[in-house]
Amino acid sequence: MHQEHEYIVVGGGTSGVIVAARLAEAGADVGLIEAGPSGEHDPRILEYRRWSALLGSDYDYDYTIAPQARGNSAIRHARARVLGGCSSHNSVIAIASPASDLRRWEAMGASGWGPEGTAAAFRRVFERVAVTMPPPLNPCAVAFMAAAADAGFPPADLRHPDVVDASAWLPLNVSGEIRQSSAVAYLFPLAAPRPRPTLYTSTTVTRITLDESGRASGVLTSHGPIRARQEVILCAGAFDSPKLLMLSGIGPADHLRALGLPTLVDLPAVGEHLQDHIECVAIWEAQHPIPPLGSQRWENGLFARFEPGAESFEMMMHFGSEPYYIDFAALGYPAAIPEHAFCMTPNVARPRSEGVVRLRSADPAAPPLIDPRYFSDPGGYDERVLVEGLRLARAIASRPALAAWAAREVLPGPDCQSDEALGRYARHTSNTVYHPAGTCRMGPASSDDAVVTPTLCVRGVEGLRVADASVFPTMIGVNLCMTVMMIGEKCAELVLAGAGSPASASA
Ligand SMILES: Cc1cc2nc3c(=O)[nH]c(=O)nc-3n(C[C@H](O)[C@H](O)[C@H](O)COP(=O)(O)OP(=O)(O)OC[C@H]3O[C@@H](n4cnc5c(N)ncnc54)[C@H](O)[C@@H]3O)c2cc1C
Repeated sequence: MHQEHEYIVVGGGTSGVIVAARLAEAGADVGLIEAGPSGEHDPRILEYRRWSALLGSDYDYDYTIAPQARGNSAIRHARARVLGGCSSHNSVIAIASPASDLRRWEAMGASGWGPEGTAAAFRRVFERVAVTMPPPLNPCAVAFMAAAADAGFPPADLRHPDVVDASAWLPLNVSGEIRQSSAVAYLFPLAAPRPRPTLYTSTTVTRITLDESGRASGVLTSHGPIRARQEVILCAGAFDSPKLLMLSGIGPADHLRALGLPTLVDLPAVGEHLQDHIECVAIWEAQHPIPPLGSQRWENGLFARFEPGAESFEMMMHFGSEPYYIDFAALGYPAAIPEHAFCMTPNVARPRSEGVVRLRSADPAAPPLIDPRYFSDPGGYDERVLVEGLRLARAIASRPALAAWAAREVLPGPDCQSDEALGRYARHTSNTVYHPAGTCRMGPASSDDAVVTPTLCVRGVEGLRVADASVFPTMIGVNLCMTVMMIGEKCAELVLAGAGSPASASA
């Protein structure tokens, strides 16, 4: 094992692979450390249609969550442990962030992360990652699109994701049958002629080390220490990046003290502001079998606002031409899910509830303590969006094109009608869209509510950046993967430009 590199990237996931590949392509000496295996030749990873079989598999950290006062405590958070991270086991929906969300980021103090500042990085992602449109082969999905248009949601082109009141075929990052994860697009065969970072797979980082001056000097791993001559770049994702910072003594002092860990840098925002897209599901039994045609069977979306004049959509809904996969009986809704079914899954596009990530113990092997605090926003907005979303799902299913497919509504079921009953159903059966973000929030260098500055430097620590979904200043309205890849591209750009001098990081 090499003991030293110019740059160490911790976490070979969605963004980490891109940071490491870009730095190596520019001639830097980079060590990329990934807890999981490579997955380079495993068809379970590469063939995108098999994504749901990875849930709970040996590639999945499969994190549990803390008991929820109002939401579903049984939610499991899938997180991939393999090169490419979650881009290697997600459902490959590929949408760039709406510009309105990036404008909000910039308004929150993430200077340079608005639509103009991120355009070049997004362009580089889409040049490297093949994205294709699913052909409209599935007749039930075609019927959904017709019903949505009939209900006032005409088809939109998601290459321009600033949509309101629209439906769409969802772009997918696939080429043929093969997913275009960050590993496939930036590291594996496509990238073979280019210089690669040194890969340390099946190697878990347990701590970031700081030298006497407080500068990040390297990492401790399951296979020994590795030194960084220039920087450590943390890309372990929205749960494990804050976990690693806290294990390294960088985080809220009271929490670290309670676990007997030394506080090297008191950063109260580490682990705060956890946001996620939370969804519920409406399910119809189909009158006849739905042919298994099309891509990954969740290839359509719908974007709706409920408040007149809202700047952007408030709810995104996926349409699935197959049954939904969670255990409703275990949640107290003992409806038998039919073999032939279609589903709509409204989610809260810009949730107002915020949760927290903490350590369970000072033991690096312990999974992070994840408390999303779903449906905890004081105004009840998140629950209201799902209630409106369920009503809208019913309205769409009642339009002739889709009604021709529907035998009966299975869930929430015809008896579930009042706002209160729909809200209770939505909360109790809710599931994650697997989009945690915000736990190492980016913001102004002077803000105690930020973990990293707009150059992704950890406030108060030299030589340490974070670049993954954890740095989102706030949630975006669509699926996260392309935006996380953009963060990887932009991080490499910032590092290579020498942005983020010690002075700007601690100013
Ligand atoms: C099941 C599922 C379906 C999804 N579907 C979509 C979709 O269709 N479209 C979309 O846009 N988004 C989707 N997402 C979300 C999207 O894929 C993620 O938001 C994004 O990939 C997260 O990227 P990341 O770089 O922040 O973290 P990750 O990709 O999770 O990368 C983190 C990496 O760090 C590694 N790591 C963690 N801790 C350590 C450690 N201590 N030492 C070494 N390595 C470590 C992990 O093994 C992992 O490889 C989905 C997610 C899931 C889980």
